[in-house]
Amino acid sequence: MTDADLPFDLTKLDQLAEVIVRVGLNLQPGQNLLISAPVEALPLVRRVAAAAYRAGAGVVTPLLSDEEVTLARYRHGQDASFDAAAGWLFRGMAEAYDEGAARLAISADNPMLLKGQDPAKVARANKATSIASRPAMEKITGFETNWCVASYPGRAWARQVFAGIPEDEAVGKLAEAIFAASRLNNNDPVAEWSAHDARLQKRMKWLDDQRFSALHFRAPGTDLKVGLADNHSWKGGTGVTKTGITCLANIPTEEVFTTPHAQRVDGTARASKPLVHQGTLIENIEVRFEAGRIVEARASSGEEVLQKLLDTDEGARRLGEVALVPHSSPISHSGLLFFNTLFDENAACHIALGQCYSECFTDEVAADNAAIAASGGNSSLIHVDWMIGSGETDIDGIRADGTVVPVFRKGEWA
Ligand code: ZN
Ligand code: ZN
Repeated sequence: MTDADLPFDLTKLDQLAEVIVRVGLNLQPGQNLLISAPVEALPLVRRVAAAAYRAGAGVVTPLLSDEEVTLARYRHGQDASFDAAAGWLFRGMAEAYDEGAARLAISADNPMLLKGQDPAKVARANKATSIASRPAMEKITGFETNWCVASYPGRAWARQVFAGIPEDEAVGKLAEAIFAASRLNNNDPVAEWSAHDARLQKRMKWLDDQRFSALHFRAPGTDLKVGLADNHSWKGGTGVTKTGITCLANIPTEEVFTTPHAQRVDGTARASKPLVHQGTLIENIEVRFEAGRIVEARASSGEEVLQKLLDTDEGARRLGEVALVPHSSPISHSGLLFFNTLFDENAACHIALGQCYSECFTDEVAADNAAIAASGGNSSLIHVDWMIGSGETDIDGIRADGTVVPVFRKGEWA
C-alpha cells in the first residue's frame, strides 16, 4: 500500500508533522530525536523525520513496534518472560535524554489488542516495563527534555471507534477527528496553537493566584473533595523543560491540571466515561475515598482489572492528578469515545490514580523528591486517568480560610 491509497487528506498529515516538530517538540537545531511508533504509523513517522531534518535536527532515530510481535509473546512466550523487560533499551533512552535528545511517541494502536490475553500476564508484563522504564520515564515526566505524544489513525483503532462501517470509511473519520482535535482546520495551525495556549495559560494563572486548598466536585454519583498538594502549581498547554525549551507535550490538549494531596481526598466519584485499560473496557466505575485512599471500588464490567490496577502498589489507590476540561472542548463536542487516553482525557474533567507530576509543584519543591512527598505528592508505578466530568459537573474552589469560589458550573468555566 502506498501513501496515495490512504483514505484521508495527506496535506493534513504534512501539517500534523509540522505542528509536532514546531509546536509539540519545538525541536532545536542540532538536537537528536527519538521517535517510538507502531509500524502502521510510518507515513507520519517519515513526515516527522523530514520536518525534523528541515528544522535542523541532528540524528532522528525511529523505534517501531508491531502488534503481531506483541501478540506473539502472549501466544508463545515462556511464563518467566512476562516478568522481564528490555532494560537496556530504557537505559539507552535515558542516556539519550541526558545527552539532550527530544522524544516523540506516536500512538495508533488497537486499544483492544490484548483483549482475550491472560490479564495476569498483561499486568506482569506492564509492571516489569514500568519498573525498567522508570529511569527514562522520570526524565520525561520531570521535563528534563522536550517531548510530545501525538496520534495517527490506525486501522484497528478506527474500527473500534467507528464500529459497523467499512474500514476505509472508519479510518477516514478517525483521521478527520484527529486532525480537528489537533486544530489543523485552518491555514495556520501553528498560530492557532499559540492562541489556544494563551487561553490555557490565562486559566492556569487565575487558578495559581486563587491558591485553593481543595476542589469540590459535584455531579450525579460524584461528591468529591480533592485536597490540593501544598506548593502545587497548575500546568497545561506548553511547558518549559529544565533545559529551557518550550514544548507542548500532548497533541491534542485541552486540560489544565495539578497535583492532589495524596492524604486529603474524601467522598465518592463516578466515572463519566468508560476507561480502557490493557484491552479491557472498565465501565461505570464508582469509588469511595477516605483520607486520600480508595477504600471501595466497583465497576459494572472489568472490575477484576480495576482491582488488579488498584493493587499494583500503595500509591495506585491514591491520586496523582486532577484536571479541568470544559464540556465544550472540541473533543467532547465530537461525542466520540476514542478508547485512547490522549483524546478521552481531553474531553472531560478527570482524575488520575498513581504517580504525580513533579512539574505540578512550585520551582523550589519540583526538583526535590523528598519535598514533593512532604507536600502531598503521590508516588506509584502507574498513572491512569479516568473521566469524572460531564455537562452536569459543578466545581467549587475552597481556600484555606474556607472561602468558596465557583470554578465550573454545568461543565463550563464559571
Ligand atoms: Zn490529564
Ligand atoms: Zn494524566
